[in-house]
Amino acid sequence: MLKDIEREVQYTRKMIGKDALDPRVMAAMANTPRHEFVPKSFLNAAFNNGPLPIGHGQTISQPYIVALMTDMLELEADDIVLEIGTGSGYQTAVLSQLCKQVYTIEYLPALADAAKVRLQRLGYANIECRTGNGYDGWPEHAPYDGIIVTAAASHIPRPLVEQLKPSGHLVIPVGRAHMYQELALVNKDEDGEISVKDVLGVAFVPLQGERDEYV
Ligand code: SAH
Repeated sequence: MLKDIEREVQYTRKMIGKDALDPRVMAAMANTPRHEFVPKSFLNAAFNNGPLPIGHGQTISQPYIVALMTDMLELEADDIVLEIGTGSGYQTAVLSQLCKQVYTIEYLPALADAAKVRLQRLGYANIECRTGNGYDGWPEHAPYDGIIVTAAASHIPRPLVEQLKPSGHLVIPVGRAHMYQELALVNKDEDGEISVKDVLGVAFVPLQGERDEYV
């Protein structure tokens, strides 16, 4: 799986602007037992570089995309991270090895409950899960050094930008549901100024419960 990720980084190096991902991100990918996060019927494909169904119409993301999005956050050991779209908890587990604390929100109670039990059983201690609409973020623990959204949004949710620390990064697929989206890197600088860069075409399941862009 790691070789497949390295190969795909090479294929996409012009878009992502680098030849290799942070070795710490690759080590976290190597350390995370993806077979624990996929349904039993897909065990034989657990280490393929592709998405897989996890029930309820949702998917566990492709390993290359998990690694790339994690890399884009440029995490430090004492960072606090917010994740929207826990799903299987796989991305959550990868993040938890690279920062101090991960707060993660899942819309569907059945997936949220299963991910919480799974992450506890596997011994990840610095993750807090909750069921809810991630569009609103999780203001109680804000601001965040990094925010990652693993479902496709039609626009960048204002609450998430507000909950990002100065010098923080937000990674989010933006575009039309059930179509290809652009993986956007949103940076907030020291003065709170926002810049947005489209990095790569991606295909995510839609973000549910979006609110009006301009309220
Ligand atoms: N990172 C996950 C990806 C799961 S797919 C993994 O690799 O397993 C995206 C997830 O986002 C789905 O589980 C979906 O239910 C969830 N989701 C969609 N809209 C959401 C919202 N508004 N708030 C929180 N989670 C949401």
